[in-house]
Amino acid sequence: MSETGRILHRNLMAVQSRMRAACERSGRDPRTVRLVAVTKYAELSWVRTLAEIYTVFGENRPQQLAERSELLPAEWHLIGHLQRNKVNLAVRHASLIHSVDSLRLLEAVSDCAAENHRPAVLLQVNVSREASKTGFAVEELPGIWESILAYQGRVDIRGLMTMAAESADPEEARPVFAELRRLRDRLSEAAATHASGICLNELSMGMSGDFEPAIEEGATLIRIGSLLFEGLSSATV
Ligand SMILES: *Cc1c(COP(=O)(O)O)cnc(C)c1O
Repeated sequence: MSETGRILHRNLMAVQSRMRAACERSGRDPRTVRLVAVTKYAELSWVRTLAEIYTVFGENRPQQLAERSELLPAEWHLIGHLQRNKVNLAVRHASLIHSVDSLRLLEAVSDCAAENHRPAVLLQVNVSREASKTGFAVEELPGIWESILAYQGRVDIRGLMTMAAESADPEEARPVFAELRRLRDRLSEAAATHASGICLNELSMGMSGDFEPAIEEGATLIRIGSLLFEGLSSATV
């Protein structure tokens, strides 16, 4: 195994072991939490090496996702902000778009859907209420829920996504994750009487600095970049 391979293997094992411990602490089945390996800062050669042992990847930019997904067969997720003129690219190459952050974008995704392809998406919510972050407002979603459900026929809305504010203390993110889960529960209830068949099973929350409280609060997808590629530099071969 190459030095890069050894480092990636060690990092992946360490993250997965922390994921299992967080599941154990919160009484969850570890099979209900999936790791999305975020490759936006990773060199292609590292991603190639990681792809030998792991196959669920996340990219921020549709262009890079499209390029890499053509080179490396894997499950690719789009996790970063999506512009409407790039929706087609994202829909073609991403198996899940985590970052649908407005009704206009949801409509654009719906316009790209086809008879035999119903794009899978999550709705991004700005729970931390930071001006720098995009996303639906927590207070806004219940009021526009009926309009969102109208898209469910052409788009497969699978859940919610959020990003907590950056902080050195992961515990500061916990209330944000708990709030996303409560919002999901509330919206699921509001959809239960609806004929849309919507199921908000997925909660995409938690990154390198805060994935443990996210798992304890119900995350089903965690998005990890820096922890996986720690110890690698461009000089490593
Ligand atoms: C970069 C990024 C991540 C991963 O962040 P790390 O702190 O490197 O784990 C997760 N989610 C989104 C939306 C990102 O842009």
